[in-house]
Amino acid sequence: SLDVELPITSVDSVCPYCGVGCAITYQKQENQIVKADGRESPVNHGRLCVKGRYGWDYTHHADRLTTPLIRREDYYPKQGLSTDVQSSVSGKRRKPGGIILDEHVYDAFREATWEEALDLVASRLLSIKDEFGRNALAGFGSAKCSNEEAYLFQKLIRAGFQTNNVDHCTRLCHSSSVAALMETIGSGAVTNVFADVQNADVCLVTGSNTTANHPVAATFIKEAVKNGTKLIIVDVRKFELAQYADHFAQIRPGSDVAFYNGVMHVLIREGWIDEDYIAEHTEDFESLKELVLERYSPEEASKVCGIAPDEIRAIAQTIGKATPPGGGGSMLVFWGMGISQHTHGTDNARCLISLCLMTGNIGKPGSGLHPLRGQNNVQGASDAGLIPIVYPDYQSLSDPAIKGKFEKAWGVPLDPEPGLTVVEIMKGALDGTIRGMYILGENPFLSDPNANKVRRALANLDFLAVQDIFLTETAEFADVIFPASSFFEKTGTYTNTDRRVQLGIQVLDPPGQSLQDWKIICELSRRMGLPMDYQDVSEVFAEFASLTESYKTLRHDNLSESGKLWPCPDPEHEDGTQILFGDGFPTNSSRGRFVACGYEPAKELPDEEYPLVLTTGRVLQHWHTGSMTRRSLPLDTIEPEAFAVIHPEDMKRHGLQDGEQVRVSSRRGEIVLQARAQASVEEGTIFIPFHFREASANILTNDVLDPYGRIPEFKYCAVRLDPLSAA
Ligand code: SF4
Repeated sequence: SLDVELPITSVDSVCPYCGVGCAITYQKQENQIVKADGRESPVNHGRLCVKGRYGWDYTHHADRLTTPLIRREDYYPKQGLSTDVQSSVSGKRRKPGGIILDEHVYDAFREATWEEALDLVASRLLSIKDEFGRNALAGFGSAKCSNEEAYLFQKLIRAGFQTNNVDHCTRLCHSSSVAALMETIGSGAVTNVFADVQNADVCLVTGSNTTANHPVAATFIKEAVKNGTKLIIVDVRKFELAQYADHFAQIRPGSDVAFYNGVMHVLIREGWIDEDYIAEHTEDFESLKELVLERYSPEEASKVCGIAPDEIRAIAQTIGKATPPGGGGSMLVFWGMGISQHTHGTDNARCLISLCLMTGNIGKPGSGLHPLRGQNNVQGASDAGLIPIVYPDYQSLSDPAIKGKFEKAWGVPLDPEPGLTVVEIMKGALDGTIRGMYILGENPFLSDPNANKVRRALANLDFLAVQDIFLTETAEFADVIFPASSFFEKTGTYTNTDRRVQLGIQVLDPPGQSLQDWKIICELSRRMGLPMDYQDVSEVFAEFASLTESYKTLRHDNLSESGKLWPCPDPEHEDGTQILFGDGFPTNSSRGRFVACGYEPAKELPDEEYPLVLTTGRVLQHWHTGSMTRRSLPLDTIEPEAFAVIHPEDMKRHGLQDGEQVRVSSRRGEIVLQARAQASVEEGTIFIPFHFREASANILTNDVLDPYGRIPEFKYCAVRLDPLSAA
């Protein structure tokens, strides 16, 4: 609350939520934020969405952890109260901004000093390493943390724990996109910034509810449409952005490959492709051409995706006419997790890449590929090495020269074998191969698929240390909890979806005894025999940048007020590189590669027992597992309750009224939540956002993985609906 007697000071920083990375000026009185305003920047032109403008109050919430906690002896074996809490509150309303923690959760822990907590974590992790080997340890870092924290975290796991079992939530959002991009064009990053949509003749948005998940980026798309860009939207749900579309194709869940193969069939048949570009800059076109011409006529594609053959032709024509053979036109493709979160997510992304390659739409203004990154620093956390198969900047673990470079920098021998991914680590915890974990800022209990299995896995660990700002559902299973700092309580760099590296500046002091995350990592590392002596985070950034190509010209003191894009040709360059790959790709042949993909159905299809398809996602007001936004009074007041979006005809069929409570079950569990009748989904499909712990959508989801990106199939599983009265 504002006190008129106290002075107000301003701090220029960025938004803690999504990958758009809006520039914000925070106003504070004493140690309290009182207001946030959009700041002029190429990223947001001063605009903010509701989360950036009002969603900062979580940092002052009474639930903040302010002292290290150690589990009490009489709270073993671990239970975690989440499932009990869930059944007791399932389907009930609660006070907005109040959290659903059962107060008894705190009873399981006692307060401790930092010395005691850090010593205990170091000694337990070291003893597990001695007894079961280094690969019995694992760490989850966070895409909410800065580049510096991500770099230090993976350094601790690789050089201190001496395992590559380090991963983070990019595994759950775009690992399949990155697998496809690396395989085809040699780089996982976006080729063009999102604001470049203003130069596009055609904008394709697919598998992305952009107005909810990247709201300010969506304003640039709407602006482009007003200025003449043709908008094509392909999705299983009808979002607000569809109102602006020239074509809206509501495909059947999981049918993306068939749809895009159908579009490519028409493009090739009609000659709406760029033969010169294909000849000069690509390889393996013939195998793709053969597949789509033989098997994916619009009529055949339509049988799978449900879009009329003439509409497939019309969409291909819009792309073909706007991007004429020989170049001259432009198309920018945006995609989100509707593309990536499938067991065929890599195939979906391969199709989008092929679409751009065959029309010559990469490497020029308004033309390219932009997988919209979710978290504020998911690009940076990946760049900084929170990935089990590569060092920072995607450098090979097994290349002896690269391995030698990191061994020299970190002063210890390193393991060349790839580590396990997020879901594989949880499986390892369940089968006893993973014994000890350090989790920084992630909440796998709510974010990972098949939550009941995750619960058993977390309870099965010999030792778990969690570092967070709240006692999350995952922290309920911890042996030790480190109280960390919120985004507003530390300085560091964050890399947005455009590859823009921006400085987040400290606004507030951390509460109580909580510490900045980088300091906690350094303290733990020292106790585990890997000294980390940095004076401040700019030194950490300098070490990270010196080991990479992409960041090597960047420093804290040469990032301008609106940051810089990597790669940045020299330290004094004004803004970095806007568009990548106009002069070839970073592949062995310097060419982009077509990968032909046939349609494969999802792994669990509807049947008599579970006749509906569940797809999960997010809403505008909430953020991922809700640990921040559900503690934000303005945001949680707007959207306080878990819900399922169900087509009105399915509601009728199940005897449901709009707003009543419904039980949704899958082969893995059941939840109770509010039923909302909306025709934004097709009959036979329901949508549930995954933010709500009292009705966690991930109780229902299937933990099967894409074979390339190892991403789970969050966007498709079979479920059933039952009115509560049927219990
Ligand atoms: Fe924050 Fe994203 Fe909203 Fe911008 S669009 S204010 S970065 S949540």
